[in-house]
Amino acid sequence: MMPQPRGRTPAITPRQRLLVLSNRLPVSIKKDDAGNLTAAPSSGGLVSALNPILSEYGGTWVGSTGVASTCERDDAEVRKVLATATRGTSVRYLPVFLSAEEQTNFYEGFSNEILWPLFHDLQSRCNFAPRYWEFYRRVNQRFAAAALKASQPNDVIWIQDYQLMDVGRQIRQKRPDCVLAFFMHIPFPAPDIFEKLPWRRHILEALLEHDLLGVQTPRDERNLVACIRTFLPGVEVEREHDYRRVTYRGRQSRIQAFPISIDFEQFAQGAASPEVGRRAFEIRRQLNGVRIAIGVDRLDYTKGIPERLRAFARFLRDYPATRGHVSLYQVVVPSRESITGYRRLMHEIEQLVAHINGEHSQPGWVPIHYVHRSLPRKELLALYRAASLALITPLKDGMNLVSKEYCAARSENDGVLILSEFAGAAPELLRGALLVNPYDEMGIAEAIHRALAMEPTEQRRRMMRMRAWIRRHDILHWRDSFFAALDGHMEVTPL
Ligand code: UDP
Repeated sequence: MMPQPRGRTPAITPRQRLLVLSNRLPVSIKKDDAGNLTAAPSSGGLVSALNPILSEYGGTWVGSTGVASTCERDDAEVRKVLATATRGTSVRYLPVFLSAEEQTNFYEGFSNEILWPLFHDLQSRCNFAPRYWEFYRRVNQRFAAAALKASQPNDVIWIQDYQLMDVGRQIRQKRPDCVLAFFMHIPFPAPDIFEKLPWRRHILEALLEHDLLGVQTPRDERNLVACIRTFLPGVEVEREHDYRRVTYRGRQSRIQAFPISIDFEQFAQGAASPEVGRRAFEIRRQLNGVRIAIGVDRLDYTKGIPERLRAFARFLRDYPATRGHVSLYQVVVPSRESITGYRRLMHEIEQLVAHINGEHSQPGWVPIHYVHRSLPRKELLALYRAASLALITPLKDGMNLVSKEYCAARSENDGVLILSEFAGAAPELLRGALLVNPYDEMGIAEAIHRALAMEPTEQRRRMMRMRAWIRRHDILHWRDSFFAALDGHMEVTPL
């Protein structure tokens, strides 16, 4: 029997089905040097959040596989590997095939050399190459065509994230009455930054083709609305209780913040298992019983990893008595390795780790343990349990699920979360976390010292608040509030 959705079940009629589009499918295909194909789960917050929803609701997931398309025969092989890897699930996975040139210009180029840095307020990293834009539109058209082919007129089409902002516009042209929803997983910048985008008006108009436009935080909602007001003359914006209604060229869209979250119970229960407890104990023992601070990030310059390592080195210099008593365990998950800037970042991190360890290590103690690979869920949970503090200091982040996962795993209500004030999770967790400016080396060093000295009663008070918040505002709450906001447009059928 198929699993039934938990929590409040939004009404969905049998006529309507859910079609989700994201740049990448939750399963990535890799080709080795000998040409063999292998499938592995994709990582990152988007997949972690949507996978459980799709598994419960069923439906179709459209996305690329990560492997460049060369000919139809190879594409057929990829289809076969994907079908084998996803056999027995209630979701239909439809691959969109992109050539190497399309991947370079659409994904690495427009998405990750323009939109990603710009939307994370790092405009000096942008490369506004005009050819990227042509490829962005072309690939978005391909996704739109795949969605139109795979869906019926009544289906709810839910498009994910910044790589696919032009898809809805192209679907709307062919099917004016369909229900279109969009969720932006990354931050939305303020007008002073967004205005640098040469295609700013086209993008905003494309976004307003959706019936519902979800963003992560109230700040993102304010920024998006400010951009719309600034760059789309004639637009009308009305404030309703917890959202804005935007009318542009006779079409209405609803814009609302839906902070994405985690499956709290799954993380809490997983972390509380005896097996994970034993592994956490072993990790602490392997590190000779010192206090552990963790950092867990995808390799990305927005995560502020070099800045954090420098802040940790400053902490060791400013508080010499702590040397030998605390280590940073930094996990960096490989990501976007084909992009030069990311390889450079990896080398910078490796050099910093070597430099800091070289300067401070003593027999039996290493200041930084560096892991450059993706960890299985149980190992990650054991690390969360083993760590007295989590150091999560992105320069800017749409949400940051790791911060919520760390709290969920702390069922004894101890441990301290040091969190960047520029993470999307900050407004939700500010009553429990120690908030820091990720650019403030001294401020982070002080926060680490304060966290290590924090009395158990204060740790408990803070951790309980954060856990209670996340438990109430979990991924089911996110799903339900998003679907509820579509009411009137949609009724989605659970399995
Ligand atoms: N993650 C993982 N394996 C690892 C490290 C992290 O599966 O070794 C997961 C982690 O549990 C989290 C996601 O990757 O759900 C990262 O999401 P986050 O929102 O923190 O950052 P993003 O990668 O989306 O920018």
